[in-house]
Amino acid sequence: MLYRLRKDFLLPNKSAIVKSMHEMSLAMSIVEIASNAARSQGGKIINHVEVEVGSLAGVMEEALSFCFAAAAQDSIAAGATLKIIPVAAKARCADCGEIQPIDSFFDNCPRCQGHQLEIIQGRELHVLSIIVDE
Ligand SMILES: [Zn+2]
Repeated sequence: MLYRLRKDFLLPNKSAIVKSMHEMSLAMSIVEIASNAARSQGGKIINHVEVEVGSLAGVMEEALSFCFAAAAQDSIAAGATLKIIPVAAKARCADCGEIQPIDSFFDNCPRCQGHQLEIIQGRELHVLSIIVDE
C-alpha cells in the first residue's frame, strides 16, 4: 500500500551550516512521522519512505540516508529504503516581484540584482509518501 503524505518541516535555521546532529534529528523526525502514519493506516512494516529536500535545507543526502537507517532500527521502519528527491530553491524579489531560482541564501535577484529575496521554496523537508505492509 502506498500512502501519500505531506508533512512539512520548515527548517528554522537560515544558516547553511550543517550541524553535526542535524541529519540525525531530521532522520528521527522522518521515522516518527512515517511510523505514526503507517500505524494510523493499520500498517505493520514500512518498506519505503520518500522525502523531498530543499537545496537550501543544509541536508547532506548521504548523511541523511545513513542517519535514517540508524534512526529506523528498532522501529517499524527498520530496513526501509529512503528516497530523497531534491527540490530547487526559489525566491521572490521584493524589488521587481519576480520569482526566480536561486543557488544560495546570498544570491541577488537574477533579473534586477535586488538584494531583498524572500525564499519561497528550498528550505523544506517533506515526507511525501510511505509504502507499508499490512
Ligand atoms: Zn528583482
